[in-house]
Amino acid sequence: MKKIALFAFAGIVLLLAGCAPAAQSSETFAMDTVISQTVYARDNSILIQNYDTIRALEDSMSKTLEGSDVFRLNHAGGQDVVFSSAQTAQALTGCLELARQTGGAFNPALGGVVDAWGFGTENASVPEQSQLERLLAEAEYTQVRIDGDAVNAGKAQIDLGGAAKGYALDALKITMDEAGVENALVAVGGSVYARGGKPDGSWKVGVRDPLGSTADFLAILELADSCVSTSGSYERGFTEGGVYYHHIIDPQTGYPVQNGLISVSVVDESGLKTDVYSTALFVMGLEQGLEFANSNSIDALFITEDKKIYMTDGFQYEFELINKDYQIEG
Ligand code: ADP
Ligand code: MG
Repeated sequence: MKKIALFAFAGIVLLLAGCAPAAQSSETFAMDTVISQTVYARDNSILIQNYDTIRALEDSMSKTLEGSDVFRLNHAGGQDVVFSSAQTAQALTGCLELARQTGGAFNPALGGVVDAWGFGTENASVPEQSQLERLLAEAEYTQVRIDGDAVNAGKAQIDLGGAAKGYALDALKITMDEAGVENALVAVGGSVYARGGKPDGSWKVGVRDPLGSTADFLAILELADSCVSTSGSYERGFTEGGVYYHHIIDPQTGYPVQNGLISVSVVDESGLKTDVYSTALFVMGLEQGLEFANSNSIDALFITEDKKIYMTDGFQYEFELINKDYQIEG
C-alpha cells in the first residue's frame, strides 16, 4: 500500500515536471517587420496564437491590403464605412485621443503625405511641394468621426503605421492572459512587450544604437510588465540627391523631421501609448518633447545625433550603457 502511494506521488512529480513552462521561441515576419517571441509556456502553441493575433490586426489595419478596414475607409470618398474589426475602431479611437493630446504631433490622418513619399516602396522619392501642400490640407484628424463601428474620415487618409505595432502588444496581453502565460518577451519591430519578469527578476531589452546596424545595442534596459517602443530615423528611409529622408513626418511641413534627434524610446504599460508617444515626442524635438513628457508623466529616453542621451524625470529603469561613445546628460 505504502509502495503504491509512493509511486503515485512520484508520478505526479514527473507529470508536473513535464508541464513546467519552458522558454518557447520563434522569429517570424508580419506588419512589415520582424516578430520575435520568447514565451514561457508548456508548448509552442502560444507562439502561433500570438502570431495569428498580430496577423489578424495587420489584415484589418493595413493601408495597402485591399479590403482591410483602413483600406476601405481610405477609399470611401468621404462616405461612412462599417469596420469589420472592433479592434480597428478601438485603435483608431486611441490614436485620435492621443493626436489631440499631442497637439497633432502624432497625426493618424497623414496617410496621403506618407504615401506621397513612398517609403519602403520602389517609388520612394521627394514629392512636389504643391502635392505636399494639397495632401497636408487633407490630413485633418479632427474630421474623423467614429460612431460605434461606423467611421467617416472625410478626405483624410488614415495611416496607423505609427501605432499598430504598439496596439498589437496590447492585444497579445489579452491572448496571453487567456492562455495563462506569466512570462514573455515579444518584439514587434521596435515595439517590445516584457510580460512578467522571466522566472527570475526582469527582462533585459536591448535599445538599438541608432547609428549602428540592427545588431548593435546602445544600452540594456531592464523591464517587467511593461512595453517599450522606439521611433528612429534609421528605421525606414531613402537617399535622394545625397540627402537621407526618413519616415517620421513633421505634420506641419509634410517633410521628415529634422531636429537633431535620432531616436526616442517610451516605456508604459500600454503598448499603444508607447508607440504613439515615441513618434509624437520625436516630432516635438528634444526640448519640447522632454517638457511634454515630464508634464504628462511619460517615461521617455531621447537620443540626439551628437550622441547624447536625455531621460525624463520618471525614467528610472535599470539602464546599462554599453556603447560608451554616447553620453548620458542631466
Ligand atoms: P516604426 O513604424 O518604425 O515603428 P514609428 O512608430 O515611429 O516607427 O511610426 C512611423 C510610421 O508612422 C511611418 O512609417 C508612417 O506610416 C507613420 N507616421 C509618420 N509620421 C507620423 C506622424 N507625425 N504621426 C503619425 N504617424 C506618422
Ligand atoms: Mg511609433
